[in-house]
Amino acid sequence: MGGTPSKDGSRDSFETLSIFKEKATIDDFEILKYIGKGHFGKVYQVRHKTTSKIYAMKTLKKSQIQKNNQIRNTKNERNVLAKSSHRFIVKLYYAFKTEKKLYLVMDYVSGGELFTHLKSRGPFPESWVRFYAAEILCALNYLHMKNIVYRDLKPENILVQSSGHIKLSDFGLSKSNIEQSNCETVCGTPAYLSPEMLKCEAYGTSVDIWALGILLFELAAGTTPFYHKNRIAMSKRIINTEIVYPSDFSYEFKSLLEGLLRKEPKERLSANEVKRHPFFESIDWEKVEQGLLSPPFIPVTFGDADTSNFREMEIECSPNSPQELLEEPCRSESYSGFSFAEESNNMNINELK
Ligand code: AMP
Repeated sequence: MGGTPSKDGSRDSFETLSIFKEKATIDDFEILKYIGKGHFGKVYQVRHKTTSKIYAMKTLKKSQIQKNNQIRNTKNERNVLAKSSHRFIVKLYYAFKTEKKLYLVMDYVSGGELFTHLKSRGPFPESWVRFYAAEILCALNYLHMKNIVYRDLKPENILVQSSGHIKLSDFGLSKSNIEQSNCETVCGTPAYLSPEMLKCEAYGTSVDIWALGILLFELAAGTTPFYHKNRIAMSKRIINTEIVYPSDFSYEFKSLLEGLLRKEPKERLSANEVKRHPFFESIDWEKVEQGLLSPPFIPVTFGDADTSNFREMEIECSPNSPQELLEEPCRSESYSGFSFAEESNNMNINELK
């Protein structure tokens, strides 16, 4: 393989993808462990056989993607990741496909999901919330400057590095070149959907600001502000109900959340306005951008390849080895003719056939 990614894998330019001149194939990777399940595929921890570098490999089944009209979303995920180079966003190193699957090879983030840490250590004190808010905001601001809407902010998609700093992952719902999107594309996680999305109105980057408000509330309170077990009732609350803030939220935190969670998107704060809010008075934004803020906790990890922060994933059939699992022996599919897709930024429908 040509080229070696930078040590932290985060500051390379977009062109890094083209450093890898040679085609990557599934044979270049040793499958170590099944670590996560997404909507349309699985995520494995893998080791590059030549460089020994550890990565996360997302596999997506073309049949599932087609059945669920996700071709555009899959294309978006790859393109947005390929276009992004930020220390708080997972980096894409290789993308390739087989007859039946698409593969995205990214940074492996060993500290697990912020969601898991919220369940075990949460609710978080406001000083912790401020740290995560600051790093997430830098990532969102970076995406918004590139006209990309993330659309799926939630604690499950924020991964914690072994250093304690975050990386946003799962760009399956992100959208680039967005000015205003509309009702055809209502997507995201119910508790995090903004009023304008639910009302099928045009929406833009301010849906991420809304989701940031929901996320920060959840980090500090342990639950989302409009939660209801019935999805329709929850949607009605999101559209109509004013939030009742816990009495232990500080004045500044409450005021920030009010600015993020304005029902009218035009009245919501922008990412840059959020940075100037008094809740962040103590924050040196240059330091945040450089990854110099001290994380509130360092996840326990045993080396870069450690998977103890991920739930034990159930294996759906009984493979003799992880490699076999990837090739899905249960369904007798054979994989040959792996091709490298890094140079084409457009994956069209025919490519998925
Ligand atoms: P996704 O399909 O992107 O939602 O991924 C499913 C799960 O796999 C996530 O919730 C994480 O637990 C795990 N995962 C995804 N990407 C990575 C990564 N780059 N590093 C470590 N774990 C990951």
